[in-house]
Amino acid sequence: MRCCLPILLALCLLGGCMAAPAGADLTGEPAPPEISPALSLGAAPSFFMAPSPAPSAAKEPVPSPSPAPSTAKEPVSSPSPAPSAAKEPVPSPSPGEEPAEALPLAGIKIGLDPGHQSKANRTQEHLAPGSDLMKNSVSSGTQGRWSHTPEYEITLLVGLKLREALEAQGATVYMTRESNEVNIPNSERAKMMNELGVDLVLRLHCDGNEDASVHGSSMLIPNNDCTKAINAESKRAGEIIQKAFIQATGRKDRGLRKREDMTGFNWSTVPVVLSEMVFMTNEEEDGLINTESFRALCVEGLCQGVLDYFAQREEQA
Ligand SMILES: [Zn+2]
Repeated sequence: MRCCLPILLALCLLGGCMAAPAGADLTGEPAPPEISPALSLGAAPSFFMAPSPAPSAAKEPVPSPSPAPSTAKEPVSSPSPAPSAAKEPVPSPSPGEEPAEALPLAGIKIGLDPGHQSKANRTQEHLAPGSDLMKNSVSSGTQGRWSHTPEYEITLLVGLKLREALEAQGATVYMTRESNEVNIPNSERAKMMNELGVDLVLRLHCDGNEDASVHGSSMLIPNNDCTKAINAESKRAGEIIQKAFIQATGRKDRGLRKREDMTGFNWSTVPVVLSEMVFMTNEEEDGLINTESFRALCVEGLCQGVLDYFAQREEQA
């Protein structure tokens, strides 16, 4: 045996060993037991795994695969359907079925706008369609008074996790940005979501104040003549999402704030709300928002709020 192995290996190298183990794997032919482990460890796995159907299913987080595993992965989302899903321990990964239909946000399109970006853009843009008033395209946002973490980093971290949570509930999620190194004016962000025809836009921000004692969470909603068509629905969404956010995070509820001076609202033709999650100029909240566990609570609250909003919208339809 000791002298056979080197010979076999040499033959293999000369005579196209790439084909042998792969062919053996695919056809189910057992390779010679002495050499198969050594060879298959190297060549076979990557070649062999490619055609397997599993990876392609795994690539798609949104669609169907059984609701049970996806909700289990998300500590964040333990919403209404969870109990019934939890009763079914069987993963039921059969791709032919359409469990996406059973997910609460199936067919719903959500826009997420993580506020700001790494560099402010002071190019002026119209505050609203037809308005002569001009405003900076994107402001720089606030930053942690203690942590010095910029707001744009936090909003993106929350946005990316919120996308996962909403997708796990069946939603199709569009983001205005997935990187901090972008330059997208607020009006453009609104128009992007208009064109996609999303059902709701969530804008993610953190607040700041010179007074370090100011703390809590607010929900901003549009309130302009040019947003008449979306004011009522945005308010309804804002109330519901704010309630769930406060419940999940335990922050002080600063309530809803009607705003007519925000470009990102005024250019929107779809319902839109803006969560000012915490004050980064407050020591406690600056500390909290810089922890993954608190950001997970923010995601949980926002996701639950979206679920509640669409559940109620469906009831009223
Ligand atoms: Zn902001």
